[in-house]
Amino acid sequence: MRCGINPMRINHVFVSHLHGDHCYGLFPLISTLGLQGRQTPLYVYGPKPLREIIDMHLRYFDTQLGYPIVCTEIDHTQHQMVYENKVLEVWTIPLRHRVPCAGYLFREKTPGLNLRESALKRYNLSFAQMTAAKRGEDITLDDGQVVPNDELTYTPYSPRSYAYLSDTAYSAKAANLVHGVDVLYHEATFSDADRKRAQQTGHSTTLQAARAAVTAQAKRLVIGHFSNRYDDNIESLRAEAATVFEATTAATEGMRIDIPIIKNRQ
Ligand SMILES: [Zn+2]
Ligand SMILES: [Zn+2]
Repeated sequence: MRCGINPMRINHVFVSHLHGDHCYGLFPLISTLGLQGRQTPLYVYGPKPLREIIDMHLRYFDTQLGYPIVCTEIDHTQHQMVYENKVLEVWTIPLRHRVPCAGYLFREKTPGLNLRESALKRYNLSFAQMTAAKRGEDITLDDGQVVPNDELTYTPYSPRSYAYLSDTAYSAKAANLVHGVDVLYHEATFSDADRKRAQQTGHSTTLQAARAAVTAQAKRLVIGHFSNRYDDNIESLRAEAATVFEATTAATEGMRIDIPIIKNRQ
């Protein structure tokens, strides 16, 4: 609500793992939505025993909740699609933490093909041929010439993606699973000097987060989840990560990041 997001418009909540700093906020959200008169379901995803925890909350606190909570327990060891709608897919990314933990990759679906105006003029295609071309087929003209689909169509824009890799030690596997991502959020709880502490606690350092971004060939890295020992020195964490991956931003609470649509030429 502080961020100006209408909570009623929240329909899906993706929980990475069941440490308090990642799930305690869910229960006041459930209650608030109930008080506001919500009736439509809220879908919640996360590792076991998320359902048991939610059931307990409902049994003792929100006993008269006016809407259903649909809980999906994810397999944090698998890279799987857990949600999709017409334009978006959400995939789990297995992470390495002290408890079962998965990140999420939010990926736009590839848009349908558009016809190139130049090709339309040149080949004088019939309606049936246009429809076939939009399906990705090559077209055979009346004189037997085959026009490859590439020449007839183009993808109007590149699908955008965002990866949320919460608490995790460095994982090349996770980085590879989000290859080419537009924005990679990766935790960087510690500075490189405190890498021993990172290892002990299942967290990453600034340099490890930056290496993940390099491995993933991400376009942009956002680091966060900083240990409070650096409260006055976040910029030094960002600068350290930027020595390995230049396009690094330090996350702040409530920050919004736009991912512009990059249109492809006809
Ligand atoms: Zn954690
Ligand atoms: Zn955490």
